[in-house]
Amino acid sequence: MAAEDARRQELTRLVMAAKPASFWLDSRDAPSVRAPLRGEVACDLAVVGGGFGGLWAALLAKEANPGRSVVLIEGSRIGWAASGRNGGFCDASLTHGAVNGRERFPAEFETLERLGTENLDAIEAATGHYGFDCEFERTGTLSVATEDYQVEELRAADGAKFLDATAVRAEVDSPTYLAGSWDAGSTAMVHPARLAWGLAAACERIGVRIAERTPATGLASDADGVTLRTRHGVLRARRAVLATNAFPSLVKRLRPYIVPVYDYVLVTEPLTAAQLASVGWRNRQGVADSGNQFHYYRLTADNRILWGGYDAIYHFGRVIRTSYDQRPATFTRLAEHFFTTFPQLEGIGFSHRWGGAIDTCSRFCAFFGTAHRGRVAYALGYTGLGVGATRFGARVMLDLLSGERTELTELEMVRSKPLPFPPEPFAYLGVQSVRWSLDQADRRSGRRNLLLRGLDAIGMGYDS
Ligand SMILES: Cc1cc2nc3c(=O)[nH]c(=O)nc-3n(C[C@H](O)[C@H](O)[C@H](O)COP(=O)(O)OP(=O)(O)OC[C@H]3O[C@@H](n4cnc5c(N)ncnc54)[C@H](O)[C@@H]3O)c2cc1C
Repeated sequence: MAAEDARRQELTRLVMAAKPASFWLDSRDAPSVRAPLRGEVACDLAVVGGGFGGLWAALLAKEANPGRSVVLIEGSRIGWAASGRNGGFCDASLTHGAVNGRERFPAEFETLERLGTENLDAIEAATGHYGFDCEFERTGTLSVATEDYQVEELRAADGAKFLDATAVRAEVDSPTYLAGSWDAGSTAMVHPARLAWGLAAACERIGVRIAERTPATGLASDADGVTLRTRHGVLRARRAVLATNAFPSLVKRLRPYIVPVYDYVLVTEPLTAAQLASVGWRNRQGVADSGNQFHYYRLTADNRILWGGYDAIYHFGRVIRTSYDQRPATFTRLAEHFFTTFPQLEGIGFSHRWGGAIDTCSRFCAFFGTAHRGRVAYALGYTGLGVGATRFGARVMLDLLSGERTELTELEMVRSKPLPFPPEPFAYLGVQSVRWSLDQADRRSGRRNLLLRGLDAIGMGYDS
């Protein structure tokens, strides 16, 4: 026990020596701040939110119709929130993975998979076309089994190459791996902040106006269109897109559908050539282990390891607060798990530690709709897999605003909604009970208790 405590203290010291900031945002390439919106401004399309969702919506709207005036307002800085803090796994899945998608949308799952692949291809094409300097590497994801019961699940995974223990360890070497499956084409690794900054620059190049430090504080509409009140002005628009993710929606009736859940990340110092050789990882895949509470990890361009996930922390009352970006207990736990996975890297330090809020909804993939008699569109609830899917969500929002029936507006995924979460204290008690149950399931070879099976039965079950 004393040895365990001493080890934990040592790891706490190690992680607390890291800089409390997103590795991606902590960059000399960060653009300087854009002026806020002042006075009264009018445009055809207003976009609220300067993460991936809003940026893609502005870019795609302007590309489709260069004559349309588009203004994007961002409450803080472009890409400062989830879009600049994530793992950088840009996944083709629109449904938070195949298991979730097949279960929720069996009739159109193949269509959603095709649309997801087209979406990822289009992100790759835009990266080339606009020259986003976002370290795009289409490496795929390696899912790894660290418990016996997970091996058969991986063997059954469609579209992926099954690897036995020797083969998976030849890819990435951890003594904890029992098997793996490598889906080589369906995920790209990106530098997410640079993707956001590149998108913003591309938007401006084709004529989108971007205002930072411009939180919208109110939304109203009349026959002429939409009015957004901001701190120093008013933005009037014929139509508006809301891409505000985990933050309180300007359409109040949407708030019960989302709970902000915090996810945490560590990044190591760059690996030396010898350290990298001890892990292998020549194909540079993103890696995810297969428990309900899972880790995701990857190499950065300068060969650090980004290591995130596992804990998912919800604060009573759906509160988002800067102080929640840091959680020493979680960082220590992440470091413990890191060295269990890669004991050969003992002694390496961590350069960055951070957290961020995820817009969790009860079906674990985005939902869409309109408000203010079709003048406002929203996409929300990406639940931790929105780096790629936000581009699809942007297309859906623009199609919904067009008032036309398109392939996207007719999807069941677009026409249906998840179940809302209950009010407090039930939301808090519910999330804590589910977390506890998932932890128990991870300790009991994946066996789900009564609560999880009940939630599965009403379509609120979580399975990574
Ligand atoms: C730690 C972490 C790791 C993750 N890892 C991955 C991953 O590896 N792969 C993956 O696919 N997904 C991942 N995600 C999720 C992914 O980052 C998000 O799904 C995606 O970035 C969402 O983009 P967004 O534009 O919807 O939201 P955000 O990037 O959060 O942008 C929303 C913006 O809206 C602005 N805003 C809100 N309200 C207002 C207002 N009233 N007025 C003006 N502006 C407003 C905010 O300031 C913010 O900038 C992760 C998330 C976190 C937190």
